Amino acid sequence: MRPLIGTSWKMNLTSSEADRWFGELLPRVAGLDACELFVLPPSTSIWVARERLRGTAITWGAQDVHPDDAGAHTGDVSAAMLADLGCTFVEVGHSERRSAYRETSELIAAKVAAVLRWGMRPIICVGEPRPVPPSEVLPILEADLGVVLEAVGARDLERVVIAYEPRWAIGEGAEPASAEHVGAVCAGLGDWLLSRPGGARSTIIYGGSVNEDTAPAVLETPGVDGLFVGRYALDPERFARIAWAGAARESLHSAPGTRSSP
Ligand code: PEP
Repeated sequence: MRPLIGTSWKMNLTSSEADRWFGELLPRVAGLDACELFVLPPSTSIWVARERLRGTAITWGAQDVHPDDAGAHTGDVSAAMLADLGCTFVEVGHSERRSAYRETSELIAAKVAAVLRWGMRPIICVGEPRPVPPSEVLPILEADLGVVLEAVGARDLERVVIAYEPRWAIGEGAEPASAEHVGAVCAGLGDWLLSRPGGARSTIIYGGSVNEDTAPAVLETPGVDGLFVGRYALDPERFARIAWAGAARESLHSAPGTRSSP
């Protein structure tokens, strides 16, 4: 499987700035087909992503969604609206939304159902609040995902992306989790997904203070299918470097002569 590498800009970049970001990114990732890239701008700039990415291999999506398809939900955006904008991915359950808006696992489950209903792929964020060993992380993630994935069947599970994002490793001032920690948690999560009744393996990516220096080690770790990048991707040049790290992983696993970073 090609590594899946994406970014959520959170509440950053106006539409004009988004346009410039794509203008700077695209030449830097031209020819990079060894990994799958996606970008989640704020809702106000999804149309810019559609304009700039249509016809490229890079997909786009949203950072949140309302579980209902339409109705009296002021300020919200539905999965139908996102699908109409050509979104492939929709992030749900980010720790900032869980804490700022008290989002529960049940609400996140309803959002996942909406995303799948409209033919898109949910990126479900999960993570422990404090640093603890992988053996203590897994029960926390399994309790949450047990609820979030309750109504998701095996076929749909294969369309689900799980973003393992330890809360202590996210955002300004945080340090990324070690590749060993990430590998142990992601491998354990993969085994757990397969062991559930009607289980199937979802795509599992890591997010939390990833930059171009830390990306290669995490990408090399068995059980990790890709990366979810926050603040370091606001600089398109840095995001391109992280993306090329994904391509380097692929060339290590394929025949000699595979293209590497320019
Ligand atoms: C995130 O908050 O999902 C994230 C990955 O952010 P950062 O890379 O800035 O830690």
